[in-house]
Amino acid sequence: MTTFKTTITNKIELPQRIKRLGELSYNLWWVWNPTAQRLFNKIDNNLWESVNHNPFRFLKEIPQATLISASKDPIYLEVYDRVFVLYDAYMARKDTWFATQYPKETGTIAYFSMEFGLHETLPIYSGGLGVLSGDHLKESSDIGLPLVGVGLLYTEGYFSQKISEDGWQEAINNPIDFSNLPLNVVLNKDGSELMIEVDFPDGLVKARIWELRIGRTPLYLMDTNIEANNPYIRQLTTRLYWSDINLRIMQEVLLGVGGVRALRALGFDPSAWHMNEGHAAFMTLERARELVVKGKKFEDAIDLCKSSNIFTTHTPVPAGNDEFPLWLIDKYLSKFWPQLNISREQFIDLAKHQQNWGETFSMPILALRYSEGRNAVSELHGAVSRKMWNSLWPEKSEKDVPITHVTNGVHTATWLARRMRVLYEKYFSPDWQDHLDDPEMWSKIDLIPNNELWAVRNHLKRKLSFYAQERGRLRWMKGSYHPVQVIASGAMLDPYVLTIGFARRFATYKRASLAMNDFERLLDIINQPNRPVQILFSGKAHPADEPGKMLIQEVYRAVKKAENGGRIVFLEDYDMNIARYLVQGVDIWMNTPKRPNEASGTSGMKAAANGALNFSVLDGWWREAYNGKNGWAIGPDAELSDSEQDIVDRESLYQTLENEIIPLYYSNRDAGDVPNNWLERVKESLKTVTPQFSMRRMVKEYTKRLYIPAMK
Ligand SMILES: *Cc1c(COP(=O)(O)O)cnc(C)c1O
Repeated sequence: MTTFKTTITNKIELPQRIKRLGELSYNLWWVWNPTAQRLFNKIDNNLWESVNHNPFRFLKEIPQATLISASKDPIYLEVYDRVFVLYDAYMARKDTWFATQYPKETGTIAYFSMEFGLHETLPIYSGGLGVLSGDHLKESSDIGLPLVGVGLLYTEGYFSQKISEDGWQEAINNPIDFSNLPLNVVLNKDGSELMIEVDFPDGLVKARIWELRIGRTPLYLMDTNIEANNPYIRQLTTRLYWSDINLRIMQEVLLGVGGVRALRALGFDPSAWHMNEGHAAFMTLERARELVVKGKKFEDAIDLCKSSNIFTTHTPVPAGNDEFPLWLIDKYLSKFWPQLNISREQFIDLAKHQQNWGETFSMPILALRYSEGRNAVSELHGAVSRKMWNSLWPEKSEKDVPITHVTNGVHTATWLARRMRVLYEKYFSPDWQDHLDDPEMWSKIDLIPNNELWAVRNHLKRKLSFYAQERGRLRWMKGSYHPVQVIASGAMLDPYVLTIGFARRFATYKRASLAMNDFERLLDIINQPNRPVQILFSGKAHPADEPGKMLIQEVYRAVKKAENGGRIVFLEDYDMNIARYLVQGVDIWMNTPKRPNEASGTSGMKAAANGALNFSVLDGWWREAYNGKNGWAIGPDAELSDSEQDIVDRESLYQTLENEIIPLYYSNRDAGDVPNNWLERVKESLKTVTPQFSMRRMVKEYTKRLYIPAMK
């Protein structure tokens, strides 16, 4: 087995002196290294934007003459050489955190996830779960963790969102052109594509395997859209989260069972196996099958697998916890249990969930029962999960249910604005990225003069405003856009006004419209003379989630109202690119989930690293981060009934805006118009939030507490 390396130079001629641009575009390392991005946007920024930051397409479409002149430009070449010094040092680095902490450890960790959010050009993520997986891979690379990712490659990916004039979400599914992405299909020695097989009721299904390089970390993605499969099977990996339960269970069998087979075919023998959410739980059964084939009893086999499994649960919301009716299990897995030497009843019992309306096969139960390491993603979510799954350990009291928590984090370098980096580099130390999770380093934030910090914050807010306006203009020029939609998309944004961002999936529990429940009061708040406020919304609802789509419509209808003066805005088609603009450009990051449904949330962490302040319900991560001085809380740290919570939180939201946030932002400006009291709070947030809620801290914690014990 070898991996076939298509080099970009097969497709286009790169001048000798800058030939390594091709190699660079094949490794997603450039995604979190802005200096590397400059190698593209410096030559032709318009093209870089129009190809959606895709180095591959960029190099294909850039005129040859432009490349030749770049290859002779000393300023360009200086940056070029600097980037490759950094890249080569990064790839070859021996003294990584992992190598230093665990010099004797030789095992590999397999990481399974249904979605990976790595970059906007690869839309194989739908929201926070995927972005977390993507950040996890990037961080593993940074700290030298021997981890390999496993997932599916969707030919259409997650949909693009278009909003009709009346605020209705339309889902547009465009095929992804794999040949324009840094993907390598894995080949056998004889040059044919390496295939794995999974047995489904209508026969064997084949999948090919693609490799993606994320710094030092490999990710393998399976895809069934090949000629050997029938048309129905070919669409199996077309989209994320099919609503059709047949396709859904097949996807999960492909991920779990197929994923283990893919790793074996690639020559991996992992010693720890991490399931990011229950979708991958069939993985355990495939590994047990391997041992049964070798002569082990099923009970011993599954126990052995259990000792090296880690399962992370991500949501207390029922729709996020997959369960399948038993007839579906019969249909798709009846060939499987004989291979485990167990009966149908024994198989069903592995994950039987007794509901008051009948029995189901529950993926989280399968994962929880057969993993030695189990965790939720924040402290409160840990408590909620122990309560939710107490029935699996009926002999234990709630607090002793063996589910711990590792609070989420974000990959700082991915989400950080370039200009903020420059500040950190200047005032911390040149190797500041080696200390991302060190609160002591972040305490040096006080060294940054307020006027410098404020200048960068204003720059980022201007970038956000211009970006929104430019998008509106382009959509307007394309036609089929009503004038009011141009205003709704941010044409009237003012880069010097207090700006609030709210962007995430439009699931109903996130209560996107909470701030609008008393619209007159909201208008009073945003339209105050001398103290205006603007709010930017963005987010997609799952195409089958009608209430979610109605929520978007409710927000959009409010956005279109003339009385808000263009100060409430909806940015269509939320993705990682818009997320970066928003988390870098807003002053306030608002989150209004119905507690305790937000298992963690991560976008607020991205905003905090860039100097925005969080204003959120005390749910998920924010309940742990909030200290009274580093942002604001919406509502109390307590459980209320649903209807009570809506009223209490809404009142708290308005009052905090009126009495605290707006006055702090606009008053006590110094001679240079710098709001020093505001920046005090920003610095407190940077000190307390950024190190603790970094992916660095998170992956180290997974390693110490879950991976290393599993590897033993
Ligand atoms: C970070 C991110 C999310 C997750 O946001 P939450 O606050 O955790 O809901 C969703 N979508 C995109 C594109 C993101 O970048």
